[in-house]
Amino acid sequence: METYLSLVVKRSYPDLIIYAGEVTLGEKVRNKKDSKKRKLEKTRITQAACALLNSGGGVIVIQMANQSEQPERMGQDLETSLRNLIPSLDLQAFFETKQQEDKFYIFVKSWSSSPEDDSTKPRICSLGTSLYCRSLTSKVAMDSRDAFYFLKKKKAYIKCSPTDDRAPPAKIPRTMSQKSLESNPAFEIFQSKKLEYGQRLLFSESTSIEFKQFDTENAQKYMKDIIPEYISAFANTQGGYLFIGVDDKSIILGCPKDNVDPDSLKIVANEAISKLPVFHFCSSKDKNKVSYETRVIDVFQEGNLYSYLCVIKVEPFCCAVFSEAPISWMVDKEKGVYTLNTEEWVRMMVDVGPEAASNDLSRDFECQLSLSDSPPHCRPVYSKKGLEHKVDLQQHLFQVSPDCLKYTPESLWSELCSQHERLEDLVNQQIRSFSCGLLILSRSWAVDLNLEEKQEVICDALLIAQNSPPILYTILGEQDEQGQDYCTRTAFTLKQKLVNTGGYTGRVCVMTKVLCLSSQNNIETSGSSVSPIDYPSSYNLANIQEMQDLLQALVIVLLNFRSFLSDQLGCEILNLLTAQQYEILSKSLRKTRELFVHGLPGSGKTIIAMKIMEKIRNTFHCETDRILYICENQPLRDFIQ
Ligand SMILES: [Zn+2]
Repeated sequence: METYLSLVVKRSYPDLIIYAGEVTLGEKVRNKKDSKKRKLEKTRITQAACALLNSGGGVIVIQMANQSEQPERMGQDLETSLRNLIPSLDLQAFFETKQQEDKFYIFVKSWSSSPEDDSTKPRICSLGTSLYCRSLTSKVAMDSRDAFYFLKKKKAYIKCSPTDDRAPPAKIPRTMSQKSLESNPAFEIFQSKKLEYGQRLLFSESTSIEFKQFDTENAQKYMKDIIPEYISAFANTQGGYLFIGVDDKSIILGCPKDNVDPDSLKIVANEAISKLPVFHFCSSKDKNKVSYETRVIDVFQEGNLYSYLCVIKVEPFCCAVFSEAPISWMVDKEKGVYTLNTEEWVRMMVDVGPEAASNDLSRDFECQLSLSDSPPHCRPVYSKKGLEHKVDLQQHLFQVSPDCLKYTPESLWSELCSQHERLEDLVNQQIRSFSCGLLILSRSWAVDLNLEEKQEVICDALLIAQNSPPILYTILGEQDEQGQDYCTRTAFTLKQKLVNTGGYTGRVCVMTKVLCLSSQNNIETSGSSVSPIDYPSSYNLANIQEMQDLLQALVIVLLNFRSFLSDQLGCEILNLLTAQQYEILSKSLRKTRELFVHGLPGSGKTIIAMKIMEKIRNTFHCETDRILYICENQPLRDFIQ
């Protein structure tokens, strides 16, 4: 894993913020710039944008190097590199820019394979796939979509083949290909001991044959450069022969013997090929590499050794061969920006969930969130048929009505107001300018999101209102320096979960605000910025539909649990609690010290118990081994552990 020191991830925001350092902006100024520096800047922006697309979205902050300029645009090269990352030509679909004083902001929305047509699309954004194939007489770089279909086909093929360990499916195509490579006219030349300079070969380039001439100045470097892509192309198609030292009219030239020694050519080829990353879907236990053979053949002119011809015979590969690791990034508040390795990349690319795999699932379960139109980190969500759909759950728990701002749950609100005299005035002051939406109260939004509680917090209130971004208010009794930290961390986690668990694909950032009951200053400071970055108005919830979409994502965030079916299906899927289960879970642990839950087998008592234990841990800050769980059988005990 390689991390990028030049890209700094800032921690003090409720969103993923990447500082990309100083960059020159504006078409004219950029053109005047040294091309090397320009390229470095472009690389930084591309990496940051790709990482944010793959990690739920966020903001790139650029320090403008040319402060006197007022660029309306970033510059053609930067725009093109951003456009190359996304599936549509419309930059606005994923990026929005804004200049504020000497800072330039690029707001990045999460990647999602938009469901505008039915075909499934790659689940992550990549700058390059490093996968090649042969098409007629050329080597072609696969783009993300080609690679997605190629990998899916390979995966499906391996799945269909008999899975007998003694005869791995990989062997079947290999023996067949052996024959076809040997019946290829190139095979005879491949086996020759010597050849004649200027001789014309009796075959030309084809899907399985490629001619390259030596760059005789630096033969070894040239080989090292061309081999990865050609070997990947042949191995991913039907195999073939790479001739180095033949011109495109099939004439043998070779590399003059004075420029190179034949053994080193072989070594260079072997080294280059052994480095190629491979990925197996099959059960190839020894993690087989590409199988190939390199020959260096003497070429004579008028009876004297004149040059060398290098031929590499490449067998078709069972799975996928890359020219180098695929080019894609992710970002994490802890790890910073990092590259995906080949294994992670393929797993994310071909992750299509269990839809295709299991008929039983679609018979008994209803899909609530499918992978085909959700952000990269999402897991599919199913609920048992007959149970409430996420839309019903949202209507039940978080209903929004036009021209009405509601506080929910009402019982909690009246309880809090009766306990804290000034609370009602303080909160009403804050939200009186909003007319439509919901204020969702909780004793601790942190605990609801599986974070640790902060004791000084009286309550947290999440505002989902029209013409506003979501706002998280943390209400404290006394001023507290850590209050803002707590609020930011909670809002950050909420945003991440709305996108990466709840599958929300719109633009979103949860703003933060700390209020204090004892202080008189709240009202005056209410004008101060909720976030130091001024987000564009597209981050506001524009209408009821958008609010409902966000609230349905919130339902998944709050009610999801890992399905027992996950292990059986070999792929993680989530289920949802019912509204009744969620109500049990929402009871205050400080007030409700005893709780009897009666239910038939399979009605979800264990899940509730697990969720409550999680809550105990976060509310009372205790270690796992201080919680006692008693049950009647061993499998259940092992499962909980
Ligand atoms: Zn394989």
